[in-house]
Amino acid sequence: MQVTVLTLYPEMFPGFLGYSLAGKALQEGLWSLNSVNIRDFATDSYGTVDDLPFGGGAGMVMKPDVLDRALKASYKTGPLLYMTPKGKPLSQKRVIELAQEPSLTILCGRFEGVDERILESWPFEEISIGDYVLSGGEPAALTLLDAVLRYVPNVLGNQNSLVEESFSNGLLEYPQYTRPQVWEGKSVPEVLVSGHHKNIENWRLNQSETLTKERRPDIWQKYLASQPKKG
Ligand code: SAH
Repeated sequence: MQVTVLTLYPEMFPGFLGYSLAGKALQEGLWSLNSVNIRDFATDSYGTVDDLPFGGGAGMVMKPDVLDRALKASYKTGPLLYMTPKGKPLSQKRVIELAQEPSLTILCGRFEGVDERILESWPFEEISIGDYVLSGGEPAALTLLDAVLRYVPNVLGNQNSLVEESFSNGLLEYPQYTRPQVWEGKSVPEVLVSGHHKNIENWRLNQSETLTKERRPDIWQKYLASQPKKG
């Protein structure tokens, strides 16, 4: 997968994606990264990339002419993403779809964001990583890429770990335990050491359902609606 990031802070990339499995995959060429410095496309000798908002108000807005030049120089094909709190909330479903793409291009905003006209002129998909405001799109882009790269073939050591985790079956994941079997007087649930696979499976599904019902009624309702009717 070829990733292009448009940013005012190219030195923030690959950031934490240079570590662990994503970092190893980057070295091995399973994905590549092109960080484009938006400031290189400023039209004046001061390197101006932002200006005051029409209509007044706090902060600055990223200029459409500069962004357009940066996009013309770097965007070819594939999904074009703009990270913004006004975007569609990122879902595991969209993450898995994006992982199938041979190339992704991501625009990171700064200040109060970008001139609206740039979002109309290019085929942007606007994506939010949650209902809170960051100071820039870079941590949002890194977060999205972290989630996506796990689904790029051979990036994760154990591809099976993708099958059973939170959201993959529409539920939160069941609790996990490892050795020692008794720690500070607490034993791991008996069923997990029984070796009885069917009982373990049932226990895990039951835990997943209880947890989801308690913590995420929104996800629970969707799960119920997706289940085949019994009887
Ligand atoms: N004034 C804007 C927020 C600007 S925050 C508003 O009220 O909607 C500056 C930049 O950070 C944005 O352009 C965007 O690229 C990024 N950003 C902030 N919060 C984000 C979020 N929850 N998800 C994705 N990107 C975000």
